Order: sequence, then structure tokens, then C-alpha cells
Amino acid sequence: MNCDVLVVGASPSGIAAATSAAKSGAEVILLDKDMGGSFDHPANTFFDGMFSRAGLAVEREYVLHDLEGMRIISPAGHAVEIPAPGSFIDRSRFDALYLERAERAGARLLRGEARSAPPAGTGRRVETDAGEIGARVVIDASGVDGLIARREGLSPLQHPEDVAWAAEAVVELAGLGEERRFEYFVGSISPGWKATFSPGGGDLATLGVFVRGRGRDVRPFLDRFVELFKHRNSAKYDVREMKVVSINRGGDAIAALPGEIVADSLMATGAAAGMSGIAYAIRAGTIAGDVAARAVASGDVSGRGLSPYVRLWRREFGLEYRMGRASLLTLGGMDDEDIDRLAAGLAEGDLDLSGSLFRKGLSSGVALARSRPRMIPALVWSLLQG
Ligand SMILES: Cc1cc2nc3c(=O)[nH]c(=O)nc-3n(C[C@H](O)[C@H](O)[C@H](O)COP(=O)(O)OP(=O)(O)OC[C@H]3O[C@@H](n4cnc5c(N)ncnc54)[C@H](O)[C@@H]3O)c2cc1C
Repeated sequence: MNCDVLVVGASPSGIAAATSAAKSGAEVILLDKDMGGSFDHPANTFFDGMFSRAGLAVEREYVLHDLEGMRIISPAGHAVEIPAPGSFIDRSRFDALYLERAERAGARLLRGEARSAPPAGTGRRVETDAGEIGARVVIDASGVDGLIARREGLSPLQHPEDVAWAAEAVVELAGLGEERRFEYFVGSISPGWKATFSPGGGDLATLGVFVRGRGRDVRPFLDRFVELFKHRNSAKYDVREMKVVSINRGGDAIAALPGEIVADSLMATGAAAGMSGIAYAIRAGTIAGDVAARAVASGDVSGRGLSPYVRLWRREFGLEYRMGRASLLTLGGMDDEDIDRLAAGLAEGDLDLSGSLFRKGLSSGVALARSRPRMIPALVWSLLQG
């Protein structure tokens, strides 16, 4: 098998990369070890603002439940409300829709697991359990644990130690999914980032912890968070009836930042390249696929020929990712009392967080500058989630 562009991994970034490369005229294979079966993709919630920031529109076809906004909850229970609309999605339907579009654009979908992608002539020869595939450009979109780019000598994550390790319980409890607010709990309940409640409509919801700096096994944090959540909600729901349907685990490259993401005839995108989140992974993959197809057409698939990808991505997202990382580091350095003081101040203040990102930033910046300038980054971080 031969193609112009081989994309490894059919999740948001890989599907987008395959679609845009095919639309830009390349012959494309999209390979995933779970293609045609059931994917193991946990992400199911996003804020609509992130989708429009990535140049995408939310489609009703896959939305299970509309969220009116988010509530950031400090360790002592102070809540800051942010009116940012969001969506809980049917992830299988979402994947099927985007895969269908990739296929319609001309990408060939293939089931198989890639093992390595050594150079061969002016391209790469990818070894997979479905046979060898020759490609002028290989795009590694195989997620935070992806091996392809790393096996070929790249360090696609600048700060692999800052990946957040997650455990997320899919739960059922009568009426719980009808809540309209996504909730973020910050502080020692989930060190380094967040614990989340995401209502999915009807009886469905997820409860998750995303922890940085404590290793991969974060199940004890999840168990504690589930107990805290039950306690907080025991007056409203019969929490003894809550059923855990399944538990998703994995890494979220939130603060890892892209490192080396381009080499001769090789690129990395999405979580494999420190670009986290469904919407931003789609946008990053779209840029990568387009650059790959143009490089093939121009006959220069060297690292230099593929480098516009890095430039274009940095121009759109570089600053935002660096700010996000700085904010998470600040948050990780705050103790529960610090976070409580910040949240209490914000909860009482007259902070207007509606409108554009710029307006939100301005309004919150002014309020914080009056009180605790050191803590601005943490707030910016939370706003970027919306
Ligand atoms: C528990 C959890 C919950 C999350 N929730 C959210 C959320 O609600 N909203 C949000 O925006 N983000 C969320 N994230 C982050 C989100 O999952 C990622 O940022 C996003 O999925 C990045 O997508 P991706 O396309 O880069 O890779 P991934 O989604 O990781 O997909 C990688 C794909 O590559 C395939 N693959 C891997 N290795 C190979 C190989 N060798 N050969 C062939 N195929 C291979 C896998 O089968 C998989 O399909 C969550 C993360 C975790 C761990």
C-alpha cells in the first residue's frame, strides 16, 4: 500500500488531518487500531466558545445535552458562575459524522496498528499489523501515549511531566443529567488541575479527576471526589442510588505544550503533540493535513517543507497555550486557602464575564488587579476553558 499522507489515529486531530489533506488533493490513508469497531474515546464535553475559536460550528446532530455555563467551585465551596454555553456530546455519533466526512473527502479508512515509521527514500515506510504502508508524509495523531513520532526520535511534548492523568466515571442517577451547569472543582481534591461534573441529559453524567504531578494512577482521587460530590448533592438527589456504569482513564496533554512536532516526512498533531481538547485538536489536525498535502504537491516533504505547520499553529494558538500552561502552574502552586480567598472575592464581586474572550479578560483583569494581581493567571486559565 502506498499513499501521499498516512494519518495514524482516527480521533479529532487525525480525522481532521485526513479530511483536510484529502481536500487539499492528497491521496490519504487514515489508520486506527480500532477502526470499524468501538473507539475508546472518553472526551464528551466542550464549551461552544472553544469550537468557534477553532473555526468550527457545533452541530445538533451529536449534542446530547445543552449546558448553560460553568461553575468553578473552590475547596470551601465558593462558586464562581461563568455563563459560557457548552455541549455534552454523543461521542460515537460525533466520531461517525467526522469519519464519514473524511471518507467523502477521499480518505481511505483502514483498521490497523502502526508500530514504527522509519524513513524510506523521500518518505516513510510504516510497519503495521495490516502490512507495510509507504507514505510521503506520516502524521502521528495517535494520542498522548502515541509512539510513532517518539520512536522516530522526536520529543513531541515539551513538558511530558505536565500531562494530567485522568479517571472519569460515567454515572447514572435519576435526573442528575438534567443539570445545566458544568462544574469545575479546584484545589487539593484534584491537584494540579480540576475535578469535573458534566451532566449529559436524563440520568447520565460524568464525574472526573484530572491530576498533574501524582503519577498515572489517580483512581484514589476519583473515589474521594465521587464521595464529595455525593455529599454536596445529597439534599437534592438520592445519591445512594448513583450507579457507576464505566470508568475512562487516560492522559490529557493540557499543559504539556508542543515540542518537536515536525521532521522529514513526519508530523505530530493533537494530543500526541501536546495540543489538547477536542476543538483545538481538530483545528491543529486541519492545519497539519493541509500543510502535508501542499508539501507533497510541491515535492518538498523535508522538515523544512513541513515547517509552515509549526508557524501557522503558533500564530493561532502559541500565546494561548503558553498562558494556559502558566496559569495551571500558578494554580498548582496555590493551596486550598489561597484558592478559597480568590474564589470568595470573585463570587462576591461584580465581575461581568459575558461577551467576548477579550471582554471577559478585561473585566476579570481589572477586578483582580484591584485585589490580588499575583492570581491573574489562574483566572485567565479558567476563562480559556470557556
Ligand atoms: C478521561 C478523559 C476525558 C477527557 N474529556 C475531555 C472533554 O470532555 N473534552 C475535551 O475537549 N477533551 C477531553 N479530554 C482530552 C481529549 O481526549 C484529547 O485532548 C483529545 O481526544 C485529543 O484527541 P487526539 O485526536 O489527539 O487523540 P486521541 O483522542 O487520544 O485518539 C488517538 C487515536 O489513535 C489511535 N491509536 C493510538 N495508537 C495507535 C497506533 N499505534 N496505531 C493506530 N492507531 C492508534 C487510538 O485508537 C485513538 O483512536 C479528555 C481526556 C481524558 C483522558
